Amino acid sequence: MARKIVLLGATGSIGVSTLDLFEASGAQVDILALTAGRNVALLAQQALRWRPRVAVIADEDRLPELRQRLEGSGVRAAGGAQAVIEAAAMGADWVMAAIVGVAGLAPTLAAARSGAVVALANKESLVCAGPALLATAKQAGGTVIPVDSEHSAIFQVLDPANAAQVSRLILTASGGPFLNWNKAQMARATPAQAVAHPNWNMGAKISIDSATMMNKGLELIEAAYLFDTPPGKIEVLVHPQSIVHSMVEYADGSTLAQMGLPDMRSPIAYAFSWPARMAWPAPPLDLAVVGALTFHAPDDDRFPAIDLARAAISLGSGGPAALNAANEAAVAAFLDRRIGFLDIAPACEETLDVMDRSGALTAGDGDPIEAALAIDAQARAVTARVVGALKAPLEART
Ligand code: NAD
Ligand code: MG
Repeated sequence: MARKIVLLGATGSIGVSTLDLFEASGAQVDILALTAGRNVALLAQQALRWRPRVAVIADEDRLPELRQRLEGSGVRAAGGAQAVIEAAAMGADWVMAAIVGVAGLAPTLAAARSGAVVALANKESLVCAGPALLATAKQAGGTVIPVDSEHSAIFQVLDPANAAQVSRLILTASGGPFLNWNKAQMARATPAQAVAHPNWNMGAKISIDSATMMNKGLELIEAAYLFDTPPGKIEVLVHPQSIVHSMVEYADGSTLAQMGLPDMRSPIAYAFSWPARMAWPAPPLDLAVVGALTFHAPDDDRFPAIDLARAAISLGSGGPAALNAANEAAVAAFLDRRIGFLDIAPACEETLDVMDRSGALTAGDGDPIEAALAIDAQARAVTARVVGALKAPLEART
């Protein structure tokens, strides 16, 4: 029987890869909803191909255009943030959560509340409200399956029967496009250079996060929540070939790794077919062609974001939400060329400092989602001030 599917963030890199996988594998799917942020043209094209019950555009101003493009197709058009949340809660068996940023939190939570299997790409929702999101899924009788390649790798080799014997989780990192750049070069890096990832073809925000290695910082927090592991037992290892997607080290001296080509359709396939495996025409991994797999420790001086993530966790339950918000705001400022590439991490650090001093990062008794969103808003305001103050030095530099 066809599985009922909702795709949140259908027009993004992960959304497109998910539909690609359905196409390539001939999976039996009944798509209830496809949602997008602003890309009406692609959303309409996908809706005409996949015939969901509803296509939702988050940007309400674009709803008339969506309606027009879907006229006579039998696919209902809807618009606005609330309509995205309603789509998430339509009663799907499987929801792909692939909206980028904290904008994905409410829809992802709604999917978890519906009891669906949530395939989680939207790492920011887990970073901001991990424990609440995981508890919600559990209470509803659903589950969260990681799509992020590193977490999928760990999920595939982490043996729950031997959880007590896990000594370390080892997250691999490609190192991004600036792996071998010096600080002077990084200071002048343009958004186009930062988005050009050597191994993975991804959305702009996560590509910048890979270049700063904030992506690995967010992934460290993601792993801590998903696998209920203290951050001190999670390490990062740079592996420029992106073939070993992550590893689990056991106390008996065995380290288990999961390997594959850098192709998100593989972790998406596992999240779709879990607990079984599915066949699709996956490009085979030929290690003789890859030749060498290399590994080294990250350079914390050029890439301070991993340490910032560790610091954020230690500041209290609101620390990760504040770091995530600061990073989203700083990345947006960098993409707009309002700050330089090397200003991103210091802007995050200063935001964390200000938020910590204000006492906002330790948990109150209220609703954890409301609390995360309140911290998100406060942190963005702080980052906006920090970024505003950075403007002059940047103009002086260029
Ligand atoms: P993307 O920018 O390519 O796509 C984002 C999707 O979210 C688009 O469909 C966009 O229309 C939608 N969207 C944006 N803002 C929205 C809003 N306010 N409301 C509703 N929808 C909105 O990003 P991506 O690369 O596909 O990444 C999606 C998520 O998956 C991110 O959290 C990212 O960290 C994670 N992820 C991506 C990859 C990858 O290879 N691309 C790998 C691991 C994890
Ligand atoms: Mg990843």
